[in-house]
Amino acid sequence: MTSYSPVGKENIKDLERLIGSHKVAADPEKLASYSRDEVAQQFWDRDYRAEVLVFPESTEDVSALLAYADTHMIPVTPRGAGTGLSGGAVPAFGGIVMAFDRMNRILEVDLENLSLTAEPGVVTAEIQAAASIHGLEYAGDPCSGDASFIGGNVAENAGGNKVIKYGATGANVLALEVVLPSGKVTWFGGKRRKDVTGLDLVHLMVGSEGILGVVTKVILKLVPRQEKVVDLLVPFRTVEEAIAFVPRVMREIKIIPSSLEFMDRNSLSIVSRYLGSPLPYQEAGAHLIIQLEGNDAEVLSDQYEQVGDFCFENGALEVFVADNRNFREHLWKTRKNIAEAIMVFFTRYTKEDLVVPTSGIPALMKAIDEVCARYSLEAFNYGHVGDGNIHVNLIVPDEREDWHETIGSARKALYRSTRELGGTLSGEHGIGLKRKKYLCDFLDETQIELIRGIKKVFDPNLILNPGKIVDC
Ligand SMILES: Cc1cc2nc3c(=O)[nH]c(=O)nc-3n(C[C@H](O)[C@H](O)[C@H](O)COP(=O)(O)OP(=O)(O)OC[C@H]3O[C@@H](n4cnc5c(N)ncnc54)[C@H](O)[C@@H]3O)c2cc1C
Repeated sequence: MTSYSPVGKENIKDLERLIGSHKVAADPEKLASYSRDEVAQQFWDRDYRAEVLVFPESTEDVSALLAYADTHMIPVTPRGAGTGLSGGAVPAFGGIVMAFDRMNRILEVDLENLSLTAEPGVVTAEIQAAASIHGLEYAGDPCSGDASFIGGNVAENAGGNKVIKYGATGANVLALEVVLPSGKVTWFGGKRRKDVTGLDLVHLMVGSEGILGVVTKVILKLVPRQEKVVDLLVPFRTVEEAIAFVPRVMREIKIIPSSLEFMDRNSLSIVSRYLGSPLPYQEAGAHLIIQLEGNDAEVLSDQYEQVGDFCFENGALEVFVADNRNFREHLWKTRKNIAEAIMVFFTRYTKEDLVVPTSGIPALMKAIDEVCARYSLEAFNYGHVGDGNIHVNLIVPDEREDWHETIGSARKALYRSTRELGGTLSGEHGIGLKRKKYLCDFLDETQIELIRGIKKVFDPNLILNPGKIVDC
């Protein structure tokens, strides 16, 4: 077990000398708020707390801070906006939390190379907006996009609503400037679209949850923005009917939607209560949102007619066409606020991020029902069904004293079923602290050893975000 040094007054003075006192903070309130992410506080069995916060403003600051921490054996936890759902930004061993709030500039939109360069603290939605001004699109679109930072998206390989067509964050990353725990600065990748020169270190960094290096610049791929967008809201009588429809629409209509999202009745009901504005057919078993896009209004109209007819042939109760801004905004506000609504109304729950091959979704839904029946839990299921990624929220009634044990047993049972279906532990939220102890149920010892080995090559003193993904 690595032993870390506590942060003393002398260390804080050193940090202030190194990067400037206005970039260092240690007041208790700030320490507390920068020590959590969006995993419910009640989930943890102890209070994780940073000892000092640093707010670097440049790559040079990051490099100096990491070199200092490495020499003094002080753990460093990189932090974006703290919207993570795995405890990734929670400082498991105290030490320094390195927050990227002030590295928040878009450095370049390169129209020749269809790329955008940003610092890690830029909010995802600002990147989308900057691309949009030029008629382009950054296709990363997590539901937390109004708050999450691009550095956090890269570290988690965030998915979201457009993965089915454009891939997760990693598919849209061309290059990264990275500071290693030693303080060394290097670039992985470049503005080029192809690269087999050496290993693909860009995509080793993507999804590495801040355990290998700190991302200080990101070059993102932009694509032409499709000018016409239509969302279909499709209620189905049952979850099974909605789910069965998903692979068929792509196979038989031969269209890849830009989004294919799912909300069960419980999820729709809680979010409607939270927002105070229901969607039609609230009582339906499940709703799908199917987004189609293109540049030709007539072609698009043909497509949504075809998809609409196909929905009716496959048990849809109705097909609502959201082709105006108000309805589309209402639809997506509803979908994007489900996670928030659950956090507001419940304290004792776990939010899971299971992903299975799409053919396994019906069996996964059945397994969720069985687990709920066995442990007397309520499930709120929604997610990126086009990717086979279901966010399963298991809620324990407030009066249950044994809620930690119940949730633990329920998670294990659910994970077992997921594994049997060829699925895995997390599609986009990551392992972090929350799922670490279950990683060995999904990866074999050889793979775990490889991860440990890679971690040690990047971070021999194990100072960067220790306690996440694997113990070394
Ligand atoms: C309401 C809600 C909806 C969400 N919807 C989605 C969704 O649709 N899709 C999805 O994928 N996720 C979703 N999330 C989860 C979360 O928003 C994403 O994981 C997001 O990418 C986290 O970004 P962040 O800036 O908040 O990172 P943080 O939570 O601050 O950190 C996440 C991880 O990134 C590391 N990190 C941060 N910055 C850096 C850096 N510069 N260099 C190295 N490591 C770094 C941290 O150490 C940590 O391990 C949702 C969360 C909420 C609360």
